[in-house]
Amino acid sequence: MASALDFRVTHVDGPARRGELMTAHGAVQTPAFMPVGTQGAVKAMTMRQLEDLGVEIVLANTYHLYLRPGDSRIARLGGLHRFMGWNRPILTDSGGYQVFSLAARRRVSDDGVWFRSHLDGSLHLLTPEKAVDIQAQLGSDIAMVLDECIAHPASDDEARVAMERTVRWARRGRERFQRVMESQRAPDGLLVSTPGQAQFGIVQGSIYPELREISARETVGVGFDAYAVGGLSVGEPIPLMYDIVERTAALLPANRPRYLMGTGTPGDLVECVARGIDLFDCVLPTRNARNGQLFTRQGRLNIKNAEFAEDGRPPDETCSCYTCRHFSRAYLRHLFHVGEMAGATLNTLHNLHFYLDTMRRIRDGIVFGSFETLRLEYQQTFPAEASQHG
Ligand SMILES: [Zn+2]
Repeated sequence: MASALDFRVTHVDGPARRGELMTAHGAVQTPAFMPVGTQGAVKAMTMRQLEDLGVEIVLANTYHLYLRPGDSRIARLGGLHRFMGWNRPILTDSGGYQVFSLAARRRVSDDGVWFRSHLDGSLHLLTPEKAVDIQAQLGSDIAMVLDECIAHPASDDEARVAMERTVRWARRGRERFQRVMESQRAPDGLLVSTPGQAQFGIVQGSIYPELREISARETVGVGFDAYAVGGLSVGEPIPLMYDIVERTAALLPANRPRYLMGTGTPGDLVECVARGIDLFDCVLPTRNARNGQLFTRQGRLNIKNAEFAEDGRPPDETCSCYTCRHFSRAYLRHLFHVGEMAGATLNTLHNLHFYLDTMRRIRDGIVFGSFETLRLEYQQTFPAEASQHG
């Protein structure tokens, strides 16, 4: 089967790559950041605002959409793009990460993972095949294969067992995906909402280089459209995370995009592009915005602080976003303290603008030879600190 995904690297600077990814719903300039739309919406944003910001691809969470409103309902309504009113690319995760986060509410076997819904306690089985079917019905442009996510720290043995299971699930997931995509309508009446969907494999192996090597070799051997680095940003030290990213990216095919799942801070974006990553997602810019933390070229700014009560300056004097062009720190602080929804919206607009602007500067840096200068700037403004998966 020919790859549904066209990817072209146009410029390189060491391991850093500038490229273009072509999906069923259009192009994505890489390296790219995907805002997280957990429940079919990026919190506090309208789709028009995302379009105006220049967002080219969003991530949606399969676990949440499967439970509510259900992938079959979304398929009957014409697929996730039409349901959300978003006509640009969408990546869906497999649902695995959320299921494994349920800890006491799930049980893993070779068949798949049994879990209880966090909503009503109902029992569900997520298998590699089921993860394919749900995402086919949602109709994302990029579907992720089901993998076993383990916590940090994990012993070498625990990590090996999970990695080997992930490889077996990758084969089953790929086989199911190919069967589903071969016909418009899969044998058991499954509705395929986006015929040109692509599927990414996921490399696991925790912090163990030898496990990462086996996982990369076996997963690439299955023959996915592209590959993700999973199981990082789960609490491991940042230098170790960077080291594993660097080693793993080097093991993945150069002509396919590489996606680092669930990362990261602005500093992480720059550092991981420097190690060969093309795609990122993270809840940090949107979640922190709602908590009153803004990312600026001077670093992090907590808008709720008393020092901003009479500060008439915008959050970032060098920023051209709608928020910074129209509103003061004092006003945003006021909105936060009285709990106005507009505060969450304006903060999120700014943070997403900052993240997208970071990606634009990264892409320009790779093309025009200024990437290393940008990297030094971000190392000073955003020194390594724990990032958060989500
Ligand atoms: Zn701004």
